[in-house]
Amino acid sequence: MTVSFLDLAPIYAELKGEIDEAVSRVLRSGWYIGGVECDRFEEAFAEFCGARRCVGVGTGLDALQLAVRALNIGVGDEVIVASNSFIATVLAVTMTGAIPIFVEPDPRTSNLDPTRVAKAIGPRTKAIIPTHLYGQPADLDPLLAIARQHGLRLIEDAAQAHGARYRGRRIGGHGDIVCWSFYPSKNLGALGDGGAITTNDDALADRVRLLGNYGSRERYVNDERGTNSRLDPIHAATLSVKLRHLDTWNARRGRIATLYNAKLAGAGVRLPFVPEWAEPSWHLYAIHTPQRHALRAALGEQGVATQLHYPIPPHRQAAYADLGLPSGRFPIAERLAAETLSLPIGPHLSMEDADRVTAAINRWCTDTSGGNG
Ligand SMILES: *Cc1c(COP(=O)(O)O)cnc(C)c1O
Repeated sequence: MTVSFLDLAPIYAELKGEIDEAVSRVLRSGWYIGGVECDRFEEAFAEFCGARRCVGVGTGLDALQLAVRALNIGVGDEVIVASNSFIATVLAVTMTGAIPIFVEPDPRTSNLDPTRVAKAIGPRTKAIIPTHLYGQPADLDPLLAIARQHGLRLIEDAAQAHGARYRGRRIGGHGDIVCWSFYPSKNLGALGDGGAITTNDDALADRVRLLGNYGSRERYVNDERGTNSRLDPIHAATLSVKLRHLDTWNARRGRIATLYNAKLAGAGVRLPFVPEWAEPSWHLYAIHTPQRHALRAALGEQGVATQLHYPIPPHRQAAYADLGLPSGRFPIAERLAAETLSLPIGPHLSMEDADRVTAAINRWCTDTSGGNG
């Protein structure tokens, strides 16, 4: 490919000195679970997010699942999730025995629609999980108001939203508990799997820590049936380094998004919609067109790599066949899945490469006589 979708090697190359020093410090310390590197990162990330507490865990999925469990949500309870989210949001609910209630997104933003959420609440509803999809903040104020009105908890899936802002405030301290992934390709990515929760609720933070550490406060004394899910110090040390560069890297993503917005304005494809209160982290730049397959193939021929986020909505996955939700049940999610196309974006994508992407799309549009569909 002439333009790859996302290359992680330049991230390491840019910070090689700092990362090598952090990793080597952990190796030399002889201390490989928990400890000072984890404490330091948790403090720094909580502060960055404007939250009281951060607790590191093993993965983003674990963060979500432990959040649901820590709120005592389980068998028979209902949890509202977006019908177009990544599978992890749904898995976190079903892993606890709770029932996912899919609610359609606002088709313009691809994020959970508060009006539809209000209508989906029933006597067994316990929580709402908005996903800040593609790093675009969900509309949190109305969701928080609905949650308060009905005595529900707000759990945020912020796995794509490191550094994004909602009404001027960074994601991480709005809802009851906010779940993060440090999967390597995220805006803040580790050298392997990693995750965290942030919250302003000390008791909730302590409960996640307990559940992720065998349900044990004191060694070999188990208060609860927990699991083993912790952020390793080698990742915490690396993440502390990268966190210092996150705003700069997000700004570079923002410049690419601005260039895409300007140069694709006449391309006849639908571009990301950003409400006036949102400052996205631009984890992904997703366009929409009914000719998604043809455009993707044409870009591939011109050496431009693209990806699909996501091609099959959760209710149409074989994994959830037993929910008995037929095709056509969630038309907005199904249409988004059929028409979405993610363009290359990242802190190390050059402006020249971004120009190549827009040129290739505009060429395809001209060749297909306007490209409007
Ligand atoms: C990446 C991601 C997750 C899961 O994170 P892992 O660390 O891979 O478990 C959850 N939700 C969303 C929206 C994601 O993008």
